[in-house]
Amino acid sequence: MNDKNWNNRFSQCGRRTAAPEISWLMAQALETPGLISLAAGFVDQESLPHHVVSSEVNELLNEPLSGRAMLQYGTTQGDEGLRRMLNERLREEGVLHPNAPVDASQFILGSGSQQILYLLAEALLDEGDIVLMEAPTYFVVLGAMQTRGAQTIGIDIDEGGLIPERLEQALQQLESEGKLGRVKMLYCMTYAGNPHGVTLREERRPQILNILRYYRERGFPILLLEDAAYRRLNFSTPPAPVKSLDEDNDLVLYTESFSKSLSPGLRLGFGVGPKEIIDKLIHLKGNHDFGSSNVSQTILKRILAVGAFDRHVGLLRSVYQKKCDIALDVFSNTMPPGSHLPRPDGGFYIWATLPEQFNTGPEGEIFQEAIRAKVLYVPGSLCFSPDREESACSSTMRISYGQIGEDELREGCERLAGVLTQYAGAAQ
Ligand code: PMP
Repeated sequence: MNDKNWNNRFSQCGRRTAAPEISWLMAQALETPGLISLAAGFVDQESLPHHVVSSEVNELLNEPLSGRAMLQYGTTQGDEGLRRMLNERLREEGVLHPNAPVDASQFILGSGSQQILYLLAEALLDEGDIVLMEAPTYFVVLGAMQTRGAQTIGIDIDEGGLIPERLEQALQQLESEGKLGRVKMLYCMTYAGNPHGVTLREERRPQILNILRYYRERGFPILLLEDAAYRRLNFSTPPAPVKSLDEDNDLVLYTESFSKSLSPGLRLGFGVGPKEIIDKLIHLKGNHDFGSSNVSQTILKRILAVGAFDRHVGLLRSVYQKKCDIALDVFSNTMPPGSHLPRPDGGFYIWATLPEQFNTGPEGEIFQEAIRAKVLYVPGSLCFSPDREESACSSTMRISYGQIGEDELREGCERLAGVLTQYAGAAQ
């Protein structure tokens, strides 16, 4: 045992966790001067509400009572007043079923909704457990599930979101393999998901919940992890969440983020769901950080109370819609024939599927050529769980119109379309 290599000292969890490929992509962006990133999932830079936040923070800090309180530790679960406000809001918005036995104690604030997603993976998953995930899916969650040693299985989506029949087929298949007992969770982004931009169609919402109810009745409870990070950025009025159908608050854990709708720098999101699961998340969060930033929570509470949050969200929808139109306008007559770029339902991602011969992967010619042309996208293969054959996902890409301004966006899209057109010409 005189091996000096730290790699042999890592836990199973440590060994399973590698640097996410996305970090490498982001490093490329920083190392290439003049590169336009259509890869980053950052929010619109110009509209970040620094004026509003600064005047509220000044007022809060100038008043000794609130100023000192916000600089003190808070509770692990999160500020009670804020949780009460969230409960009231969600009830008014129809996110919670009117009879659902939910109050502020079934809410947990997290350091970004990302923390809630990770805590849930920690609370529910042992090595070999199974998580069903939309395919394509949000790659950071994929990484979190894999770190916990779970097997991830992709369930196809189409332009209406997760396909209930595919979910049923996957569960039947798992049952025939005797693995149903290992299925712990279904992860589903019900609004303008990352990377696909699709909002789950209304009639599919009860169908999915009914499938889970059926399995629970047979003794196989599977939690629906409903990630509604982009709910407030839907371009048209979206259907109510699946959570609104969860009358007994026992099948759906609903998460939302204040990153996209207000400011990712505040690092705040929340979860609401079955009491015993929320309690477990609180215990685990105690090990992580015993509470998210009290400063951020106090600011958020004030911004919600004075109505600034709702005004800001109203503005954001039109900001992203306009940028989405700009990007799609560039691509509408410049993408190679046979490409498919559906209009997203909201959020800030376009999911492009190119003809089969286009390999968009990080090692492929297209990606390398894009870097030379100083434009970056996310190769779609990163958004699929390993159960997918490489060839089935290697001609897809995520294009983000989130962060950059309109002129830069237009230029970035033109560069990308140029690379693809050139490749199409050369391949003929
Ligand atoms: N869910 C989805 C679908 C996301 O895209 C993101 C951020 N990219 C998150 C959750 C986590 O966001 P945050 O931690 O900032 O709330």
